[in-house]
This record gives sequence, C-alpha cells and structure tokens, in this order.
Amino acid sequence: MIDTPQIQDLDLTQKNVFMRVDFNVPLRDGVVTSDARIRAALPTIKAIMGDNTKITLASHCGRPRGQRNRKFSMEPIAQRLAELVDAEVLFAEDCIGDSVDGLVREQKSNQIVLLENLRFYAGEEKNDAEFSRKLARSYDVYINDAFGASHRSHASIDGITNFIPEHAAGLLLHKEVEVMTSLRDSAEAPFIALIGGAKVSDKLGVLDALLTRVNVLCIGGAMAYTFLSAQGGSVGASRVESNKIWTARQIIERAEAHDVQLLLPCDHIAMDEFSEDASTQILTSPSLGAESIGVDIGPKTLAAWSEHIREAGTIFWNGPMGVFEWDSCAKGTIGVAQAVAQSKAFSVVGGGDSVAALEKADVIDAITHVSTGGGASLELLEKGSLPGLLALSKKKRG
Ligand code: AMP
Repeated sequence: MIDTPQIQDLDLTQKNVFMRVDFNVPLRDGVVTSDARIRAALPTIKAIMGDNTKITLASHCGRPRGQRNRKFSMEPIAQRLAELVDAEVLFAEDCIGDSVDGLVREQKSNQIVLLENLRFYAGEEKNDAEFSRKLARSYDVYINDAFGASHRSHASIDGITNFIPEHAAGLLLHKEVEVMTSLRDSAEAPFIALIGGAKVSDKLGVLDALLTRVNVLCIGGAMAYTFLSAQGGSVGASRVESNKIWTARQIIERAEAHDVQLLLPCDHIAMDEFSEDASTQILTSPSLGAESIGVDIGPKTLAAWSEHIREAGTIFWNGPMGVFEWDSCAKGTIGVAQAVAQSKAFSVVGGGDSVAALEKADVIDAITHVSTGGGASLELLEKGSLPGLLALSKKKRG
C-alpha cells in the first residue's frame, strides 16, 4: 500500500503550495489538443483551494532540453487551465527567480500561478540541488500530483523535497499508485496482460515482473516478432531486435515455468513495403515470406485474445498491437480496445498510444482506470515504487 503522506495529512491554511503536475499535453500550433492531463489534476487543485491556500503549479512539456523555446511554452496550457478552473490563472514567464517570487508574494488565494516549463533549465532533468533550492524558495508545502513524471529523478520530483520539508502525494498520484499496487498484489484471476508497442527492450522489466502475477500474457506489436523469432518462426522483414532474441527465449521459458499462457499472434496483417499506402494481406504464422512485414495482429489472433479478455477478472493493457496510426493497420489495436471495454473485468490501460486507441474507439468511459502515465505505470508495476514516491516517503517531514 502507498505509504506516502497525503494531502489530508497537511494543514494548508495560509500556506504557499508548490504542486508538481503533469501538464505534458500535446500542443499543435500553440493550442492544447488533448486536455486530459490538465483535467486529471483538477480534483487535487479543487481539494486544496480555500483556507487562504496559495497554489503554484509546475510542469514540464515536451523536450526543450534545457533551453528556453517558445514552442514548448506553458502559456497555452495556462489558457486552457483558466477555462477549466474556478480561479484566475497567472502565468509566470519563468519557473525560478525574482519574478516568480514577486508573483507569489502578490498572489491572492483565488489565483493560481502556473510556472513556465521546468525543462527550460537543464537543472530540472539533472536533479540539480541548486535548481531544486531555487524552485523551492517561495513555498511552505510541496505536493506531487504528477504521476506521469514520477518515474524520473528530476529536481521538481525528487530534489525539491530536500528543500520543502512538508510534502504529500496529490489525489491523482495516490489513485494511480493504489491501482497499480492492486495489480501487483491483489489482482483477481484470471489476470491477463496485453503488451504491445515497438521495442522489446523498453518492456523487458515489466514482462518479467508480470510473469509472476498474470495467468495470460499476450504480446503484440512489433515486439511479437522478436518473440516469434525466438521460437524459430520465420518473420520475414518484420521489425526484430536481434540482440533481444535470447532474452525473449528466456521469457518464454520463464512463462512455462510459472504456468503462464504466453500468447503470440497466430496471424498477421502484413505488407511488403512499410508505407501507409501499401496494400495489406492476412498471413498465418509462421509462414511470413522473406519480404513480408507484420504490421498488426490478424483477425484470428484478435478473436482468440478477445475470448481471454472476456473471461478475465483483471486486465492490464499497454502498447499498440500494430502500426495503429495507419487505418489499414489499426484493426487489432481498436479491436483490443473494444474487447477490453466490453469486458466486466477490472481493467487498467496505460500508455499514450493505447489511450489514443480507446479515444478513437470511443470507449474510454468503459475502462476501470485509464492511467495518465505510460512509463510510470510500467515502472511501478515492475518495481513496486517510483523515485517520486520514495522522495515523498523517505525524507523527513516538518
Ligand atoms: P512503443 O512506444 O514502444 O509503445 O511503440 C509504439 C509504436 O509501435 C507505435 O508508433 C506503432 O506504430 C509501433 N508499432 C506497433 N506495431 C508495430 C509493428 N508491427 N511494426 C512496426 N511498428 C509497430
């Protein structure tokens, strides 16, 4: 169970609060194209407003790599936030320094300050102590509600807690951790995990952790071809990580040892040229010709996996089953989204692509828990903790 302090444990009356949020939202031409992550932070913001509490929100957005870059400014996010909260939003054009201190000093309790992108400073990703100290300067209390960034040992997640002794997890962080912990420790059987996406190497740790917990493990996406190669199948020109074939073989053996049904695609949508316009055909494993590239799970695979999904007590899904960005290769991913939505199981979906597929299939409301952090949810499932949680729980509170 989560042992970090929670916001209910704090007296926030007349306090200046620094709240780390995950407003790393997609932007197009300076407009927020999905505000899901902003909305996800609203319950904590609402819960701590009042009692003359003054809130400053801070986040990163994109990868500006330690440089000020207008393309990654938080200003459009401040505008969207202002439409969603019952408070005036003051945008700070920096995240540290005298201008921020001045703004916070003048701030009224019905105003929210949103700082400029934390990653405009290299000190953020380096967890630099001096940068952490500067971030902390104007505040009495630190709240972390940025689940999607809590697997990073960055200054606003980790180092800052050395300089603000009173700190707690926000409601979103707490909920996410509770759900992932229940998957690790008390999932109702049969527990099925569906893992897809491009790279085996990104997901080896979580695959290994899942083997001692799940009953059925379905591996789709490009990852499946490394596993099919490990089984000796001919995968044509599909994407294979040849330096991971040996590890894939070990995972297959460990699955057998743990009595886990490890399911790989038995048929495929394939094309001869990796291009959105290329024609597709359905091929059956393991007979992919030398030129064929597997780009999605086939209909028989989808039907078989959907049957397992229907019977499941618990479902965890992360990663697309194919190149779902192209309509011709999206049926597997959309089909999995629909099957998970139709099931009565406790269902958890994480990862930007899987969540986008739920949105595309218009089934997001039918999922028990849609995680705001793909990488963070995988790491929490794998390791049982995150740097952001350790920072909140280990250090001394005031
Ligand atoms: P990841 O970031 O590892 O979750 O991978 C997501 C990406 O994997 C998406 O952009 C998909 O287009 C891609 N992907 C999924 N299946 C395949 C496949 N069979 N071949 C190539 N790319 C794939």
